[in-house]
Amino acid sequence: MIESSHTRKPELHGGPCAIIDLAALRHNFKVVRNTAPDSKILAVVKANAYGHGIVQAANALSDADAFGVARLKEALALRDAGIRQSIVLLEGVYSHADLDLVAQHGLEPVIHSFEQLQALESWSGNAKLSVWCKVDTGMNRLGFRMDEFALAWSRLSGSSKVQQLRIMTHLADADNREQVRTPDQISRFMRLANDLGVERSIGNSAGLIAWPEARVEWVRPGLMLYGMSPFASTAGPDLGLRPAMTLVAPLIAIRRLNKGDEVGYGGTWRARHDSCIGIAAVGYADGYPRHARTGTPVSVAGKVVPLIGRVSMDMIAIDLTELLRSGEAGAISVGAPVTLWGESLPAEQVAMHADTIPYELVCAISQRVAMKYV
Ligand SMILES: *Cc1c(COP(=O)(O)O)cnc(C)c1O
Repeated sequence: MIESSHTRKPELHGGPCAIIDLAALRHNFKVVRNTAPDSKILAVVKANAYGHGIVQAANALSDADAFGVARLKEALALRDAGIRQSIVLLEGVYSHADLDLVAQHGLEPVIHSFEQLQALESWSGNAKLSVWCKVDTGMNRLGFRMDEFALAWSRLSGSSKVQQLRIMTHLADADNREQVRTPDQISRFMRLANDLGVERSIGNSAGLIAWPEARVEWVRPGLMLYGMSPFASTAGPDLGLRPAMTLVAPLIAIRRLNKGDEVGYGGTWRARHDSCIGIAAVGYADGYPRHARTGTPVSVAGKVVPLIGRVSMDMIAIDLTELLRSGEAGAISVGAPVTLWGESLPAEQVAMHADTIPYELVCAISQRVAMKYV
């Protein structure tokens, strides 16, 4: 029966539950270590650790040399929870008030623009900060331009507010192994950084996996820590990773349809023969992607069945006809757990059917979803 096919039976309170496997996080961290054994690891836990829970994830990743977040608020949440490691603010700060907090909490801001540099230079705080100078080697998002870099670097290294200086860049196309863009970015960075005698950082998950030259003093993995692959044609397990989040929701109705019946808003799916469908209690208000098309894989009793019709705010419909006809799953009843992604179903596959990337799926888990740590 359905219960026996699931090793871990989630508590289903009528809605979805994200089960976070902390051992998987630790396993994935070891994969990073083994891939870049000579690098220090800045574990990226921005966006609530990609939806996994920032404090729980940081505690599980306690061997990280530093944590990376996007916003000051995220760093403060980590400090409030007693996290002692260095915390890097990947977007940096702009105001003197924020620099006060940076100093107070021992945070390490990225400086990527002259506005930030100016704020630092005119700040009256008497602490000396560790800062990361970001150089734009071709992504054209954040960072000092190559032709501005010398000026920025000399001002930073001459600043009385700076204690330790490091240098970083970000790769725009690291998940594309065939491209010349990444080698170009890396060689531009090396030309600039190699003579400075400071620690460097280049690679995110895709960068550190696919480009050995990107494994310098620091690597900055995010997605792979959560067990997912940054590469379009692979899933986390193909890279030796274990998905850390499994999103499950209960079946709240099972219903028979006659041939020709239409399902859901707009009636976009029509039964071609007498059918049996299930309704699961998860929808776009929980973070399940509304753009998931008919045919998006959903796992029931260890078997993959297709999503049908439109995703509602609180529910989805799935086609159970084949599964029940084959008898493979035994009896499926209301209350049975349905897996939306995770251990038995890579989020990468779901993302493909919803025209998105696994990053967006896990980050979008809403507050309504119960979190369970195992
Ligand atoms: C988010 C982020 C990372 C982590 O990227 P992944 O692709 O999730 O590994 C690394 N560096 C910077 C600057 C980032 O913003």
